[in-house]
Amino acid sequence: MAFPQTRLRRLRKTDIIRSMVRETVVSIDDLIMPLFVCPGTNVRNPIKSMPGNAQLSVDLLVEECKKLVALGIKSVLLFGIPESKDETGLIACAHDGIVQQAVRAIKSEIDDILIVVDVCNCEYTTHGHCGTVINGDVDNDLTLETLAKQSISLAEAGADIIAPSDMMDGRIGKIREALDKNGFHNTPIMAYSAKYASGFYGPFREAAESAPKFGNRSTYQMDPANSNEALREIEQDLIEGADLVMVKPALSYLDVIRRVKDTFNIPIVAYNVSGEFAMVKAAASNGWIDEERVIKEILTSIKRAGADIIITYHAPQMAEILKKEQQLKGI
Ligand SMILES: [Zn+2]
Repeated sequence: MAFPQTRLRRLRKTDIIRSMVRETVVSIDDLIMPLFVCPGTNVRNPIKSMPGNAQLSVDLLVEECKKLVALGIKSVLLFGIPESKDETGLIACAHDGIVQQAVRAIKSEIDDILIVVDVCNCEYTTHGHCGTVINGDVDNDLTLETLAKQSISLAEAGADIIAPSDMMDGRIGKIREALDKNGFHNTPIMAYSAKYASGFYGPFREAAESAPKFGNRSTYQMDPANSNEALREIEQDLIEGADLVMVKPALSYLDVIRRVKDTFNIPIVAYNVSGEFAMVKAAASNGWIDEERVIKEILTSIKRAGADIIITYHAPQMAEILKKEQQLKGI
């Protein structure tokens, strides 16, 4: 049937009809909030390029987690800023490492929270690269050893999900084997599978103090021009035992998310990264966009593209938006 028998506007007539036929709904259960933990007590170092976010010492981090849980956000992703760094990032494997301390502290005070931990070397190496550098480039196989050790140490501390973000070949298999050998066969791996060498990570590098001191990450992170390669990365990670796969960043890669969704039957995580967040904040602070409306539209678009889970710095604000909507509906 064509017009005039068909009129698509019929189903847009009222709020009730529109909500009845709405195809994509973002729920608070879909969201993970990234947090940065630093040494000290009562330390809050605001991150200039990410308004509202800060590096927090363990005590304040626990308080932040309590606030998030009260808002309905039950999952956090932790990044560590260590006291000191070394050549190979081995400091990340210490029993009393900064993230290990944070995991133990959160778990001892909050029951109903899921802690995802980032596994990578870049926050812990003096040179800021994601692995062990040999002759000016990251050595893949040597880096796998450190990543496996870091994963075990974090699982021992009580982390619920291990999330390697390094983009080394073979790391999922290596980490899976190490976890299993140490009794953590029930600890899932969230693989940063299609992680692009992106300009959108700028504010994060300020937040995590992890900018590379020389060169860039293009020998291990993916070329933004490629999407066939993303499918190959994901295929490899699934063969090696990934439980969840990630596309990062989200907004410039919605087509990749959709291709992954159409190709694999696996939960997909999208990382709505720091630069994407910062652009919204900057435009909103200038009064150029309706911030709440844009946040909702962005998160909905990521879900519509095929993501099941969204890591986003907008999580607390989105929780407030959803709460307001429910109050309006009288729920
Ligand atoms: Zn890294």
